[in-house]
Amino acid sequence: MITLQGKGVSAGIARGRLSFLKRKSLSVEKRPIDNVEQEIERFNVARKTAAEQLDTLAGEMTDKIGKENALLFEIHRMMLEDTDYTDPIIEIITSEKVCAEYAVNTAGSRLAQDFADMDDEYMKARAIDIYDVSRRVIKLLSGEDYGLGESGEPVILAADDFTPSETAQLNRNAVLALVSRQGAANSHTAIFARTMGIPAVISFGAFLSGDLSGKQAALDGETGVLYIEPEPDIIKELEEKQERLRKEKEALEKRRGKPTFTKDGRPLKLYANIGSVSDADAALAGDAEGIGLFRSEFLYLGRNDYPDEDDQYESYRKVLEKMGNRQVVIRTLDIGADKQVDYFKLPHEENPALGMRAIRICLTRPDLFKTQLRAIYRASAHGNAAIMFPMINSLEELLKAKESARVAREELASKGVAFKEDVPIGIMIETPASALISDVLAREAAFFSIGTNDLTQYTLAIDRQNDSLSSFCDTHHEAILRLIQLTCENAHRAGIWCGICGGLGGDYSLTKEFVEMGLDELSVEPSRILKLRSIIAEC
Ligand code: PEP
Ligand code: MG
Repeated sequence: MITLQGKGVSAGIARGRLSFLKRKSLSVEKRPIDNVEQEIERFNVARKTAAEQLDTLAGEMTDKIGKENALLFEIHRMMLEDTDYTDPIIEIITSEKVCAEYAVNTAGSRLAQDFADMDDEYMKARAIDIYDVSRRVIKLLSGEDYGLGESGEPVILAADDFTPSETAQLNRNAVLALVSRQGAANSHTAIFARTMGIPAVISFGAFLSGDLSGKQAALDGETGVLYIEPEPDIIKELEEKQERLRKEKEALEKRRGKPTFTKDGRPLKLYANIGSVSDADAALAGDAEGIGLFRSEFLYLGRNDYPDEDDQYESYRKVLEKMGNRQVVIRTLDIGADKQVDYFKLPHEENPALGMRAIRICLTRPDLFKTQLRAIYRASAHGNAAIMFPMINSLEELLKAKESARVAREELASKGVAFKEDVPIGIMIETPASALISDVLAREAAFFSIGTNDLTQYTLAIDRQNDSLSSFCDTHHEAILRLIQLTCENAHRAGIWCGICGGLGGDYSLTKEFVEMGLDELSVEPSRILKLRSIIAEC
C-alpha cells in the first residue's frame, strides 16, 4: 500500500481504480501563414463559436452546479471579448505570421502564467480559467476533440489539474472522485466538486505519478489521503467512516433552520464568511444566520482598475437582498500583504505583511475609502448591514476610520441619497496590539470580530503564507487563546458582542473552549455551520 497526502477540498470517501485523464492532444504547431487577415478572421469565427458554446453550457449547467456557479461560463465568454485576451493573440498572428492555434496557445499561456505568478491565491486560481478558454478556442480551430477519456467503469479521475469546463461536464456516474497534482482550494474546480458532491483532493505534486494509473485506490476527501492498493483494514476503516458520515449528515440536517443554543440555553450566532455575491447562496445553503465576514477586497481583485461606487453598491446590495433580514458584516478593503493588485501601484516592500495593507491604505487614501463607504451606506438601505474595519491597531486609527464613515454619510445625506444612519461599525482584532488594548477599542466599536489567521501570524511571528513553517505554527498556542479570551472579556465589559471570523472559528476541537470563553458569534465556511450548531448544543 502507498499512502499519499494531498489537500482535501471536497469531503467524502471513494474507492475504485485510479485513471488519468486522457486529454486528446491539440495541434498547436507553429505553422506559418500567408494571409494575416484571413487568419485573424479564422480566429474570430472560432471565438464566436466558443462564445455560443459557453452560453449554451452556462444554461445547461445551471441544474448541475447551480446558477451562480454556472455564471463562470459567462465570465469565460466575456474573456473572449476582452482585449487583454484577444489583442496579444492578434499581435502574434500579425507580427509572426503564424497560425491562430499557435497564437492562442502562446498568448493564452503567457497570460495564464502571469496569473499563476501572482501572490494572491484567488488570482492564482484564475490561471486555469484562461487555460480553459484557450483550449476551447484551439479545439475549435483545429477541429479536434478533447474528450475526457472516460472508461466504462467509474474511476477516481486523476490529472495535473482540471479545468472548470472539465469538472462541470464530468459524468457524475463515471467519476467517483477527483485527484490532482496541482490546484487550489478556492478554484472553481474545487467549488464545483463540492457543489456536485464529488470527493476531491488536490496538490499531490509529482507523487501522483502516471505509473499509478489503473491501480485500485481509496480516497478520503476530508483528510486528503489517497491510499493506493489499500490494505483491508484501511478499506474497512473508510467504509465505517463513510457510513458514519452518512448518518452524521442525516442527523445534522435536522438542525437546519433552527437557532443555535448552548446546552444551558445561551444563544450563539453562526455566521458565514464570503468573498463574492455568489458565495451568499452557499451561505444560505449552509444555513448561515448571517454573514460575519464579507471580504470586500475580492471586488477589487481580478480587474484592471478600481471598481467604482456603483459597481460596489450593486454587489453589496445583492448580498444584502439575498440575506434578507440576516446581518451582513462588510469588511472594508483589506488589500496589500498576500492580496496584491497592480493598479493600486503599491510600492515594493520587504515585508508586505507588516507593511501598507488594509486600514493603513484606506487611511492614506481617503477618496478610495470614502467611495467604498458610500457604496456600503447606499446598500445599507436594502438590508441589515454592518461595517467592519480590518487591522485596527489603535484608538486613533479607529476614530479616523469612523470619521471617514461620518463624512461618507454626510455626503450622501447632502445629496438626498437613501441610507441607514445607524449601521453598526465594528472592528477586527487581528494583532496582539489590538487584543491587548481591546478595553480601549471597545469604547468606540460596536462589535469585535477576531481574525485568528492574522492574529496567529502576528502573535507567533509566523508568515501565514509560508508552508514550510507549518511545523512551528501551533494554531492552538496558549498565547492566541489568551488573547481571544482577553478580547472577549473586554468586549463584554463594554457591552458589545465578540466573535471569531478567522479559520480557528471553524475548528471543532476548540468550539467548547470558545463557548466557555463566552464568544457570541462564529463566522465560518458555510459547510461547517450545521456541525458547529450540533457541537454547541452539547457545550
Ligand atoms: C483573519 O485574519 O483571520 C481574517 C479573517 O482575515 P483574512 O483571512 O482575510 O486576512
Ligand atoms: Mg486578516
